[in-house]
Amino acid sequence: MKYLFGPVPSRRLGISLGVDLVPHKVCTLNCVFCEVGITTTLTTQRKEYVPIDEVINELEAYLSQKPELDYITFSGQGEPTLNSGLGRVVSYLKDNHPGYKIALLTNGTLFWDAGLRAEVSRIELILPSLNAATDLIFRKIDRSCASLDNNQIIEGLIQLRKEFAGKIYLEVFLVPGLNDTDTELSLLKEAILKINPDLVQLNSLDRPGPEPWVKHMTAEKLDYVASFLKPLPVEIVAKATSRKSIQSFQNDISQQILDTIKRRPCTDQDLCDILGLHKNELNKYLSQLLDEDLVESQHMERGLFFLPKKSE
Ligand code: SF4
Repeated sequence: MKYLFGPVPSRRLGISLGVDLVPHKVCTLNCVFCEVGITTTLTTQRKEYVPIDEVINELEAYLSQKPELDYITFSGQGEPTLNSGLGRVVSYLKDNHPGYKIALLTNGTLFWDAGLRAEVSRIELILPSLNAATDLIFRKIDRSCASLDNNQIIEGLIQLRKEFAGKIYLEVFLVPGLNDTDTELSLLKEAILKINPDLVQLNSLDRPGPEPWVKHMTAEKLDYVASFLKPLPVEIVAKATSRKSIQSFQNDISQQILDTIKRRPCTDQDLCDILGLHKNELNKYLSQLLDEDLVESQHMERGLFFLPKKSE
């Protein structure tokens, strides 16, 4: 499958079939914590980045086997709302496979576009991000397209909430030293109160990211931010459910990753190429192996490498 990946066990969505509507790495942002790598096409232009007919053909072939899924999720190697055919895929799923719930993982930067809001109106769950209230911090964390304005993004999210009947879980990715100051958090809280999402999910780096200076946030600080944002409905994104308890988590893929990095340390891209995995799918397995202390990572000249934990 070229445009579908998984199903993967997701921290927020249970068993999720991924649908990737943009090639690596087309995005409106270039976030300092991005697990998918550096953005190579930084743009706000919506167009058919991958052929929607082919995406629909793959979905038809896969869903005809009636797999058990919690969600079909638009996510992937960039920003899915950039594909101008998103609405066509949503309509195809709702008209032909109404039993499946749809989720959209998005950076939330394009909802000022009324056309996009109409395209996503039949989705059950939208998970946008908002990492900053001020333009200064927005540019430092999200390193956006010059044409994007953070106030316009926030207004777009407010408008989405007014029109959208499904659930909105707003993610805030916390970067220590940037968006965790009381000043920034106060402004962020003010903006989120206006957006009025069903849930605010706090996230932070749980493995070394592409920028070595971006650090993990301590559990104490995450708790502090959660209290600070109250009375908003806030939760701290939990670790993935254990792979042992998830049917679709394939232990042989974990083993293949371990076998490969035992021979030589690999970047995530090396592992995707060698094992034929989608980067998002690989990330789920790597996160689990890091959690289980079976793998460690090191920044080297060519990027972030994964290798077996020495005590093994
Ligand atoms: S919005 Fe998502 S895909 Fe785009 S750079 Fe940020 S984390 Fe990566």
